[in-house]
Amino acid sequence: MTEFKPPLEDMNFLLANVFGVEKLWQDIPALNEAIDVDTANAILEEGGKLASSLIAPLNRSGDEEGAIFDDGIVTTPKGFKAAFDEFAEGGWSGLCGDPEFGGMGMPKMLGVLFDEMMYAANTSFTLYSTLTAGACLALNAHGSESLKSDYLPHLYSGRWSASMCLTEPHSGTDLGLIKTKAIPNNEGSFDITGTKIFITGGEHDLNENIIHLVLAKLPDAAPGARGISLFLVPKINVENDELTTPNNVSCGSIEHKMGIKASSTCVMNFDESKGYLIGEAGKGLACMFTMMNYERLSIGIQGIGCGEMAYQGASEYAKERLQSKGIGELRDTTKEADPIIVHGDVRRMLLTTRANNEGSRAFALYIAKQLDIAKFSDNEIDKTKARSLIALLTPVAKAFFTDLGLESTILSQQVFGGHGYIREWGMEQLVRDARIAQIYEGTNGIQALDLIGRKVVANKGDDFSIFSNEIKSYISTFKTGDLADNKRLQSMFNHLEQSITSLDKLTALMLSRGQDGNEINGNAVDYLNAFGYASYAYMWCMTSISAVEAQFSSDNPYLENKLLIAEFFFARLLPKQQTYTLAIESGVESMMAMPNDMF
Ligand SMILES: Cc1cc2nc3c(=O)[nH]c(=O)nc-3n(C[C@H](O)[C@H](O)[C@H](O)COP(=O)(O)OP(=O)(O)OC[C@H]3O[C@@H](n4cnc5c(N)ncnc54)[C@H](O)[C@@H]3O)c2cc1C
Repeated sequence: MTEFKPPLEDMNFLLANVFGVEKLWQDIPALNEAIDVDTANAILEEGGKLASSLIAPLNRSGDEEGAIFDDGIVTTPKGFKAAFDEFAEGGWSGLCGDPEFGGMGMPKMLGVLFDEMMYAANTSFTLYSTLTAGACLALNAHGSESLKSDYLPHLYSGRWSASMCLTEPHSGTDLGLIKTKAIPNNEGSFDITGTKIFITGGEHDLNENIIHLVLAKLPDAAPGARGISLFLVPKINVENDELTTPNNVSCGSIEHKMGIKASSTCVMNFDESKGYLIGEAGKGLACMFTMMNYERLSIGIQGIGCGEMAYQGASEYAKERLQSKGIGELRDTTKEADPIIVHGDVRRMLLTTRANNEGSRAFALYIAKQLDIAKFSDNEIDKTKARSLIALLTPVAKAFFTDLGLESTILSQQVFGGHGYIREWGMEQLVRDARIAQIYEGTNGIQALDLIGRKVVANKGDDFSIFSNEIKSYISTFKTGDLADNKRLQSMFNHLEQSITSLDKLTALMLSRGQDGNEINGNAVDYLNAFGYASYAYMWCMTSISAVEAQFSSDNPYLENKLLIAEFFFARLLPKQQTYTLAIESGVESMMAMPNDMF
């Protein structure tokens, strides 16, 4: 089985060269004080060591053992607790947390890269900590000062962890249907009663307390989503910084599932458990969206991590496995068979995976950069633009990263032939672990509806125009810049120009069909895919310019390698955008024609 190698060279290149963080961080006073490039590199190196030497070795055993439920108690696989303690002692739980409450205050651009390495090493393990980080964000943004000071320091320190309790048996996508009740009590808090299902990390043995963020309805709540409020419900009550009595929160069972077997997926029962309102009554869904948006990007990164790990295994295997003779120059006449890496189809699979992973990594950093500007910048114009881009691009990231992540794990498994299907090489676990990311945190279909419905049509394309205009102005800058004569870059920028022109037209078409619910619903996923490929064309142009610039002073083969992957993307993957576009242009009549009872 392949050992995980943190892709630090690519990460450092993206940070320093493509996204120019030295200048970016110096220009934002709050970040200038917090971080510089050397510190960022050192943190990533340490994070990479932690992921590869402490967390990755627990991945296979964690999958085989799984989380175990016995009479309300959930035990994580052997080694998880000790590794979590070490993870917490290193301060990793609070990497991007607010320093006022004990977090390390690092930029999200570092956070996404660290998360990717953790997901690559061990997705199940990582889910316990990323849920906590998302809960901290929601609590910090919407909680009262006393809730923040009582809970955040223990969550950032890793002493406690958190869960996100939305889903109920009859209420998944449509959270307006939830039945969990919150009744005001005479202590100024609320009694929370109800059952939540599918709760990741709802119960486990990694921490002494678990803080649940629970959606519930007050007695006089408005119907539907407008009546939802958000509550903080500790597993064990807390007074004066001490744990006191159990809070009537119990785990009824855990799910037996396809993948992420070491992550506990719990049925959680709340029986008049004491809860504290976060934010305003009736605004719970909006508050929860702070956590959900964070988790959506995080789950997207699960896709990248699984894809990266899969590529590492497949590329190594393809260089060693000898089957069939290559063609032409790639044939070694002295041998009976060549390594499978010489075969066009194997190269197609490996390059698709590599381009998926590296395009996604760049796009994750692009969004993280917007999150950092929105949080740390003192320039209101920049912040407003960044917020628009975050709103627009978060659903794209969640769905596209995880769709490509699964594609990458399956292609990498395919490179192994039959050996990919058996347990020994670890590839089938990656496929199983990557699959859930398309489903939870709002299915990818729902992400696509969020993109086209709420983020494009509802604001008449304003946020889309911000992104599209940025790309068009980037193309103009290239055409008048020092590298305008570079033939390789010219070709890539021509592709980018066609791609964004096509997406502009497609968006105008969707806006013109905005009143037709079936056109929106039936085309949403194809629109998101077309959007995703166009966004990656932008990422690959940014990456390629930086690679060409770096080649003036360095002959590092990594740079030429980067350009070759970019060229593969433009030649072989970007054309998929046109397939999705053509499908949308044909309309949804064929989709809606068949009566329900004929399915
Ligand atoms: C392993 C695991 C971990 C999870 N962790 C958590 C957690 O920590 N906290 C939590 O609260 N939940 C969690 N969930 C729940 C998860 O977020 C939901 O399963 C998911 O959001 C989908 O809800 P559902 O399963 O009820 O599907 P449904 O809502 O019943 O949807 C079924 C299908 O219909 C589609 N659909 C529904 N409505 C529409 C529409 N309007 N237009 C088009 N298509 C539609 C969906 O996309 C989907 O394909 C977890 C689930 C799993 C399996």
